[in-house]
Amino acid sequence: MLSERRTKIVATIGPATRSRENLEKAIRAGMNVARLNFSHGAHAEHLQVIKDLRSLSIELNAPVAILQDLQGPKVRVGRLKDGQVTLVEGSDIIISTRVELGDAKVIPTDFKELPESCKEGTRILLDDGLLEVVVKKVEGTEVHCKVIFGGVLKDRKGMNLPGASLPVECMTDKDLEDLEFGLANNVDYVALSFVRRGSDIQKLRELIQAKCPSTRIIAKIEMLEALQNLHEIVMLSDGVMVARGDLAVEIGQTLLPQKQKQIIALCNELGRPVITATQMLDSMVENQRPTRAEITDVANAVLDGSDATMLSAESASGKYPFRCISTMHDIILEVERSSDLYYDISLEREFFDVAETIGASASLSALKLDSPAIVCLSTTGKTAMLISHFRPKAKIVAVTHVPETLNRLELVWGIQTLLINPYKNSEEAMEQIEDKLLQYGICKPGDKIILTLGLPVHQAAKTNTMRVFTIGAGRGAKIKKSDLPLRFQ
Ligand code: PEP
Repeated sequence: MLSERRTKIVATIGPATRSRENLEKAIRAGMNVARLNFSHGAHAEHLQVIKDLRSLSIELNAPVAILQDLQGPKVRVGRLKDGQVTLVEGSDIIISTRVELGDAKVIPTDFKELPESCKEGTRILLDDGLLEVVVKKVEGTEVHCKVIFGGVLKDRKGMNLPGASLPVECMTDKDLEDLEFGLANNVDYVALSFVRRGSDIQKLRELIQAKCPSTRIIAKIEMLEALQNLHEIVMLSDGVMVARGDLAVEIGQTLLPQKQKQIIALCNELGRPVITATQMLDSMVENQRPTRAEITDVANAVLDGSDATMLSAESASGKYPFRCISTMHDIILEVERSSDLYYDISLEREFFDVAETIGASASLSALKLDSPAIVCLSTTGKTAMLISHFRPKAKIVAVTHVPETLNRLELVWGIQTLLINPYKNSEEAMEQIEDKLLQYGICKPGDKIILTLGLPVHQAAKTNTMRVFTIGAGRGAKIKKSDLPLRFQ
């Protein structure tokens, strides 16, 4: 049941999912957020996907968030003869910023600052760390290296210099062009790659504010420097991605599990949605079933406190994209059923404002009154997000008359959304909501519903009020499952 799952699923769109028909299958299988990876694909392709997602979302009555993932200053291998070369362990190679087409002896890169970023002993990892070379000497545009771990190296694979502070801007010219495109098409989230400090987020925020202020920022944590500045980055962002691919290469792979837990815990504490990403069901790129280790990885990411778990190549280019989504869905549901481990309203932490205090009260009241739902009347969805971070067992229903808010909230743990007509007071809003809650089978007559809102409603006040509302008898009857909006099925 799609409506039972609280942790959301982000699926990367690529050749395996890009057609309208396949996007529909992905949504029906449980994709909440579509990630468009701007390391690949032309604007025309991304535009078609955005248009199809928006129209499908209306057709299926299922909000979907669109996340634009900017490539960032990713250092890459250039073009290679025949598309690939084999690096032999123990042999010498040159990485050159001068050569255009590489071979087994000379590997090109367009990262002009590579020579000045290296010295004798610098480790250079290739293809997410599968291959490794170490620098012997630097001569002009040529970096002479010895191959430590060899193997097949393909065109355009990534290159990492772990721990090095590279002389690059957080956003390249390509990122700025891509951002302009994304904002012109109202993407819900922009993910910034290779964030190193809070000022990277502030710069992006200024650009967004000028063009499309409703778009929110996800900081991808994938650098050692980002871990050193984690608190300020999380505070300044609207959400975070644990980008485990590059992070593992940057910090050393054995440190990854504990850093994942630390990042997620901080996001939970500061009330920022957090996505755990990369290789979650990697073997399903080729196989119909995941490994035991992958099942456990998804389950542990949920138990760690992720708002969402992400599929990359599995849904973008794998053989079984929809099966990957439904497998992830099944694993998450199973974890969430073990409620003793999971739902834990912690009132110990610092509260930042009135809305958060109301959110805590709503979560606690729902627990004590055995309420099936907490309903948040909201414009931006902020209170619903705050409540989500208390991980209440009651359903969180965010009700708004702003369509963009519906899409944006698809990323956040446990939130289901309802679009209603503008209302003048809480009674008028509840008139619209009560029938829907009954029809959708979320509650029954006599149930006590917790309502949060900002009074006076006509002044669009911020959340300052919590009410307990008893559902009346003789209102709208439950409708059959197949007639419900997808997110409530
Ligand atoms: C990652 O590094 O894990 C990640 C999600 O970023 P990208 O796929 O853009 O490398």
